[in-house]
Amino acid sequence: MTDHRVTGEVATLVVVNIGQLVTGDPRLPAPGVVKDAVLAANRGRIVYAGPASDLEVATGPETVEVDVHGAAVIPGFVDAHTHLVWLGERSEEYALRAGGASYEEIAAKGGGIRSTVAATAAGTLDELVAAAGERARRMLRLGTTTVEVKSGYGQTQEAELRQLRAARALGTEPDGPDVVATYLPLHGLPAGDRAAYLEGVLGEGLAAAAPLAGFVDCFCEIGAWEVDECERLLVAARAHGLRTKVHADQRSHSGGSALAARVGAISADHLDHATDEDLRALAVAGVTGVLLPGASMVLGGPPPPGRRLLDAGATIALATDCNPGTCWCESMPLMVSLGVATADLTPAEALLAATAGGAAALGLTDRGRLLPGLRCDALVLETPNWLDVGYHLGANPVARVIASGRLIGL
Ligand SMILES: [Zn+2]
Repeated sequence: MTDHRVTGEVATLVVVNIGQLVTGDPRLPAPGVVKDAVLAANRGRIVYAGPASDLEVATGPETVEVDVHGAAVIPGFVDAHTHLVWLGERSEEYALRAGGASYEEIAAKGGGIRSTVAATAAGTLDELVAAAGERARRMLRLGTTTVEVKSGYGQTQEAELRQLRAARALGTEPDGPDVVATYLPLHGLPAGDRAAYLEGVLGEGLAAAAPLAGFVDCFCEIGAWEVDECERLLVAARAHGLRTKVHADQRSHSGGSALAARVGAISADHLDHATDEDLRALAVAGVTGVLLPGASMVLGGPPPPGRRLLDAGATIALATDCNPGTCWCESMPLMVSLGVATADLTPAEALLAATAGGAAALGLTDRGRLLPGLRCDALVLETPNWLDVGYHLGANPVARVIASGRLIGL
C-alpha cells in the first residue's frame, strides 16, 4: 500500500482519527473516501493520506498531532471564479430586480456594473485590499483555501492594474486563501471610445498585466463584448504567456463556448445558454466548464448544465462568482448544495467539482485532492459525514482549516 505515502520524510502535521477521508483519488469510487484514516504532511506537502492501519510516518519533536475524533476531512475548496475586489454596494439594485427589473434594464439606466466600476476605480490600493480581505477571510472560514480573483471593475489601465495588485496583496496575507489573479479587461463597456480602449488593452494593457496575472478573461455577451473582440484579446494574451478564460453563453447563446473551444481556453464559465454541441466542443478541446449556480439562481433562466457537461465528457468546476451584482456569496459549501439541487450533480460530483475541478480550471496540478505529494490544503468538518457539506443547506460545515500543511487559527 505504498501509494498512500511518500517515504522517508518526517511529518510536521499528523491528523488522526479521521472517520471519512475524502481523497478525490480517481482510482476509488467517487469522491475517493477512505475510512478510519490519517492525513500527514511535511510542511506544505502531504506525506501520507490513507488508512490508519497502514500508517508508517516518521515523527519528531516538531510534529503537531491533531485528533479529530471521527470527523470527516475533505480537500480545501478551490473557488475558480470570483470578482472579489470591489468597492460600493448594490443592494438597491437587488431590490429592484426582485421587483421585476432585469439585469439588462438596470444596466441600461446606468446602474449595475457601472456603479461598481465608478466606486472601485476611485478606490486606493489599501481600500481595495481591506474590502476584499474581509471577503477572503470569510471564504477561508468557509473552507476556500485557493481563490481566483479577477480585475474587471477598473476600465482604465491604471484602475485595472490596481485591482490586480490588490489581488496579489491578498495572497500574501498569512491567514487568507492562496490567490490566483486574472486580468479581465473586457467586462463592462468603457465610457469612452470602445475601439480605442480595446487597442490599449491589446497593447500596453496585456504587457502591464502579464507579470501580475496568470490568466486573461473576457465577458463575451450580447450588449457587452463581441466574439471577434474577445478572440483578439485571447489570441494576443497567449503571446504574453497568459492562459485564457471566457465568460461564455451566460445570458444568451452568444458564441463564448465555441470561442473558448476554438482558442483552447483553460475554462469556459457560466454556460447557462450553451448547446449540447458547444459542450461537446469544450470536452474535445479539454476546456473545463465552470458552473456558477449562485448567479444562475439569482438571475433566473436555465439551470447550469452540470449533468450535460459530464455527459459530454467535460471536466467541471463549481465556483461562487462572488461579485456585488449577481451573486454576493463567499460560500463554496452552498455552491455544492446548489450544484446538486440545480445542476443535476450527485453529491460526489459536486464535491469533486468544488475541489479538484476548481484546481483544473486554474491549471493547478498540485492541489484539489488529498494524495501524497500534493499540497496539504484540507478541511476538518464539524461532522463525521462528508455528505453534510451539501446536505446541510446554508451552513458552514468547516470546523478547522489546514492550509499548506498549517492549522489556521480562525
Ligand atoms: Zn464572472
